[in-house]
Amino acid sequence: MTTSQRVPTLAGHDFQLPRALDGLGELAYNLWWTWTPRAGSLFSRINGLAWSRYRNPIAVLASAHASRWAELEADEDFMVDASRLLDEFTRYMQNGADAWYRRQAEADPEGRLPGPVAYFCAEYGLHESMQIYSGGLGVLAGDHLKSASDAALPFVGVGLLYRRGYFRQQIDADGHQEHAQPDLDPGQLPLRRARGPRGQALEVAIEFPGRRVHAAVWVAQVGRLPLLLLDTDIPANDPADRPITHILYVRGREMRLCQEMVLGIGGVRALRELDIQPAAWHLNEGHSAFLLLERARELLGQEPGLAPGEALRRVGRDAVFTIHTPVPAGNEVFDRGLATKNLSLILNEMGLPAGELMELGRGRTDDPEAGFDMTAFVLRHASDANAVSRLHGTTATETWQPVAGHPVQAITNGVHVSTWLGRPIRRLYERALGASLGADLSDAALVDRLSAVDDFDLWSSHLQQKREFMNFTEGRLARQFARHGESPDELRQIGNALNPAALVIGFARRFATYKRADLLFRDEDRLARLLSNPGRPIQIVLAGKAHPADRPGQQVIQRIFELSRSERLRGRVFILEDYDMRIARFLVGGVDIWLNNPRRPMEASGTSGMKAALNGIPSVSVLDGWWDEGYNGRNGWAIGDREVEGDEGAQDGEDAESLYRLLEDEIVPLFFEVDENGIPVGWVRVMREAVAGSLWQFSSARMLREYVARLYLPAVRSREPATA
Ligand SMILES: *Cc1c(COP(=O)(O)O)cnc(C)c1O
Repeated sequence: MTTSQRVPTLAGHDFQLPRALDGLGELAYNLWWTWTPRAGSLFSRINGLAWSRYRNPIAVLASAHASRWAELEADEDFMVDASRLLDEFTRYMQNGADAWYRRQAEADPEGRLPGPVAYFCAEYGLHESMQIYSGGLGVLAGDHLKSASDAALPFVGVGLLYRRGYFRQQIDADGHQEHAQPDLDPGQLPLRRARGPRGQALEVAIEFPGRRVHAAVWVAQVGRLPLLLLDTDIPANDPADRPITHILYVRGREMRLCQEMVLGIGGVRALRELDIQPAAWHLNEGHSAFLLLERARELLGQEPGLAPGEALRRVGRDAVFTIHTPVPAGNEVFDRGLATKNLSLILNEMGLPAGELMELGRGRTDDPEAGFDMTAFVLRHASDANAVSRLHGTTATETWQPVAGHPVQAITNGVHVSTWLGRPIRRLYERALGASLGADLSDAALVDRLSAVDDFDLWSSHLQQKREFMNFTEGRLARQFARHGESPDELRQIGNALNPAALVIGFARRFATYKRADLLFRDEDRLARLLSNPGRPIQIVLAGKAHPADRPGQQVIQRIFELSRSERLRGRVFILEDYDMRIARFLVGGVDIWLNNPRRPMEASGTSGMKAALNGIPSVSVLDGWWDEGYNGRNGWAIGDREVEGDEGAQDGEDAESLYRLLEDEIVPLFFEVDENGIPVGWVRVMREAVAGSLWQFSSARMLREYVARLYLPAVRSREPATA
């Protein structure tokens, strides 16, 4: 028996592969390669140019012709490496018997799910070549899928295929953020069309007033499990409906509502067409709330006479919900008129009056005209809900318990170790463990054995990753400044701008204002003094996008850019444009310290600091999100304390003061205190603690087990027995 969920698909490309390398075709269509670094190296050996340009094996395989394959077949090293990789892939796909879920389900029948978990999310960050994510939420969803695959959990993801994705960022010579829309070509991506019951390319339809909107169903295979992606840009639709799924977090409110109807309603219909019977439904963030309406509509069709409110209550029993942010803008609220108009057909069919729906979606407000709050609607119906760190569990319970009727649990986020670990550090851990990390570290006990790693090896692996980060960053910076028209001399300098001996501070995340990217720049004189000590060089590298509608966020980028070009800070502060998962990997693997200074308690979890910690990079962070529970006094530094000032300005001032003091008195001195071999022994001790405290505790493998035990299995148990 296999636990993987099989979805019949229509063939993708017909590559001209030689027999012996046939398996590469299947591998190219399985995102398993995104967390198997050896796969990337192999694809780059087939066509280095195509790989570096597209970073996607479909483009590589499509570019190679018979003569290239003949060369490769004659290359013994290549053939040996290819066959090893393909064997490993085959073993991963066939043999889930060792995987965590299979082992625990065999040991305890109570721990078995009678069907897959259907996981709905508006964005997925699986790899930089598939730009259907904007930030932390998407990357977390991608890591969740990867860990579900590693664990051989029956699981299926549902989302949207945004052909124009999330915007690509350029920062112009004045520091303005410019927006460009990418143009995703599904034919060039690891996507295949799902096949319907009669073998046809599957499409589902959603009723809107006066028309039906059709959506193609694509499948991205993520290891053992499928991710279904809906796409309205198909000829069956009126031209005006084709762009519904084009843009992630599209600004237009009605367009956004249409999108979320396609996700929630269309997503359920796609699962039904594929004969997938979920045992539990996970709504990751409120964007997919309409799946509850669609399931209630189905139930009412099967049990005429049931009250619509009761149908909603019943379908909520095996649904669970994850809330991801305490920031009000993170909660989707739709204007009443818009919601009533667009949902009129499904409401009619259900016999649910619009006014009653509005009551079920009332947020924390008494305003009778308040809009339809997706978060509140789901919280009222889902059997249980969780926040994404302990601290967030407390704030979310304070905010939402009155609506949900129960406290909000805390399941702290984690990251997918194989995706985020740099190769030199990974090799080091594998040597220490005497075993391959395999798909993921699956055991807390393994982590203890890492104490065998010695200081010199950890430091030199770090330096190797730091060099890789520097080369990459300098190349990107040179490209940016060439576009600004800087002189050849300037570009030569920028191409060597990073100093391997410097303490490099990394900061990368969305430029939402609550994240306070400019906190470190609050006192420019003090910062300039800190950065200009010739015996203790320090450099700061930042990256991040501000939402196109977020002007204040864009102003922060501009201010930091201008400072980075000022006389005092030039050569010491750099902003990398177009932050994505690739830049994230280089940064969280290669800087020396990771800075995070949100306004407490606005950061629900934060995950980039976890990625850094796995790589031995300690955090200096506000005690918010994961750091509130992750910080232990030895694995990094805490900015400020747990007191929150009512006045934002005062809070910012105190936190900046604390950050400067930590840098001046503790962090910088410790980093530059080296032994006779040039190793900063005290610093390496902090690095080790960062690893030990994160490798299991903040992995998505640990997170997934908690979801299974605390949400999925209880949701299955709370379902009513099937009625005859
Ligand atoms: C991890 C990650 C994030 C989330 O970072 P936070 O620390 O949670 O803000 C955002 N974007 C990318 C590309 C990431 O890899």
